Amino acid sequence: MTDDHAKPWETTRRGLLLLVSSPAGAGKTSLSRRLVSDHADLTLSISWTTRAPRPGEEEGREYFFVDRPGFEAMIAKGGFLEWAEVNGNLYGTPMAAVMSALDEGKDVLFDIDWQGAKQIAEKAPDDSVRVFILPPSWEDLSRRLHARAQDSEEVINQRLALGKEEIAHWRLYDYVIVNKNFDRAYADLGHIYRSERMKPGRNSWLPEFVDGLLAE
Ligand code: 5GP
Repeated sequence: MTDDHAKPWETTRRGLLLLVSSPAGAGKTSLSRRLVSDHADLTLSISWTTRAPRPGEEEGREYFFVDRPGFEAMIAKGGFLEWAEVNGNLYGTPMAAVMSALDEGKDVLFDIDWQGAKQIAEKAPDDSVRVFILPPSWEDLSRRLHARAQDSEEVINQRLALGKEEIAHWRLYDYVIVNKNFDRAYADLGHIYRSERMKPGRNSWLPEFVDGLLAE
């Protein structure tokens, strides 16, 4: 049961929580998924959502798709690390999956909105690293959403409006990447992740290692 787990901010192991936000269409999902596939120690948190699957989305890969009563029952039993309403749908990060990833010694990447990133960073300030991805221009964002051809014009307009709200919170983040060129943005995201991983406080083996060096 989720309640039996320690919470991330109560554990001694310092797994890194990489919180990645952006307006829809800025490339966050592709960047995040590639970072996770290139780093064996980094795992993606799969959220629960009450929104309907889009064409091509699979249960358990993009999201776990649940109905509102199911989602509300999970809230009631304290099963989410954070949850938020986005565009009329509920989205939440299941606590148990994050805790087992941390228990296995992994870092966790969260592809979540500013509300979720804020909640997690407040609960686990020392372990959270927040990255915001910006599009190079508004026109580019709109073009990318249209190119996906996944949504109707009305839905695209809603997503663009929501994108403005998301961008308005960019100052809450530790790092901002402008995704003008995917490879460049991907390299920048990788640099952020690897640098943050090298902070002494995140490597509990270091004091003993250094003691060993000094004892030679
Ligand atoms: P979409 O419906 O386009 O997949 O996602 C809409 C927004 O919800 C995106 O900004 C996405 O990052 C965010 N989101 C996805 N999962 C979660 C979650 O578990 N918690 C929060 N707070 N936001 C989420």
